[in-house]
Amino acid sequence: MNFSNLLIKWYLQNKRDLPWRNTTNPYPIWLSEIMLQQTRVAQGMPYFMSFTTAFPTVFDLAEANEEQVLKLWQGLGYYSRARNLHKTAQHIAQELSGVFPDNYNDLLKLKGVGEYTAAAIASFSYNEAVAVVDGNVFRVLSRYFDMDTDIAQASAKKEFAALAFELMPKDNPATFNQAIMEFGALQCVPKSPNCGICVFNESCAALQKNKVDQLPVKSKKLKVRNRYFNYLVLEDETGNTLIQKRTDKGIWHNLYEFPLIETEKEEDFDTITALIQKDFSNQYEIMSMLEYNEKSIIHKLSHQHLHIKFWKVKIEGTIENGIDRETLRTFPFPIVIHNFIEKDL
Ligand code: SF4
Repeated sequence: MNFSNLLIKWYLQNKRDLPWRNTTNPYPIWLSEIMLQQTRVAQGMPYFMSFTTAFPTVFDLAEANEEQVLKLWQGLGYYSRARNLHKTAQHIAQELSGVFPDNYNDLLKLKGVGEYTAAAIASFSYNEAVAVVDGNVFRVLSRYFDMDTDIAQASAKKEFAALAFELMPKDNPATFNQAIMEFGALQCVPKSPNCGICVFNESCAALQKNKVDQLPVKSKKLKVRNRYFNYLVLEDETGNTLIQKRTDKGIWHNLYEFPLIETEKEEDFDTITALIQKDFSNQYEIMSMLEYNEKSIIHKLSHQHLHIKFWKVKIEGTIENGIDRETLRTFPFPIVIHNFIEKDL
């Protein structure tokens, strides 16, 4: 049996029953593909369920306000995906009468839809013969065919897409694409795959050459930037606090946070106290300060490690535009701040 037939046979026997698989409706397929980028299925599933419950159709999502969308997305990370999702829903609802483009090239024109997502929707919804290439596909093909192409290079995608296309039965692209991704997710996993039980263990080149743990080749190492965030949890005499919206491009765009003092390195209590006095004493009469967490919380993003401290700053009088704790909880926050609010406030 050839590679594709064996792969599809494996898939039909082993596939997970996932809600976005039992449909050709592009809306839930698109939602799931955007949500599952950089996210495991188990983590993404509750988000998919709450999105489809809150916004059963693309019109419902289009009509939501951005804060509602970000609130539901809270914890999934890569928030630009949520903002693009929302904008794209509005575009489809308003400009395209709620109808998704029905082919790869037109899908690619949608905001936030890259080659991978366009290929997934085109094949799963419309059975268009176009190959998906994600991390699973890179891994499965590079191992099975012993390809040492560096997958960090831009040209790798073309090479793997061409090979996947060649292998794909053109009358069944949806199943082939699903199968190869599922095989990478469940069987040919990144670390220590169980090759002993693999359906390909007699033909897999990497296994025969004892190179499974060396493939795929990925050269580029991300340079991680360390940042030091000191969040000021102001509290006035009525118990109100202050938050602000992050309007800068970059991490957490349009999410909320407490007033922030960013420093070049981790600073001690006295230095932060002096900085708070300097930045805030002309606006507020500061009564007392203390650290919520003595040790910084390390929050890891793909390119940045954030070292986060929360500071309790008691203020005399009342804060202009201050909000109470109940209202505070309705805003969308980065998950690290959300967790702090839930646990420590
Ligand atoms: S034999 Fe091992 S490395 Fe090869 S395809 Fe199967 S799980 Fe992957």
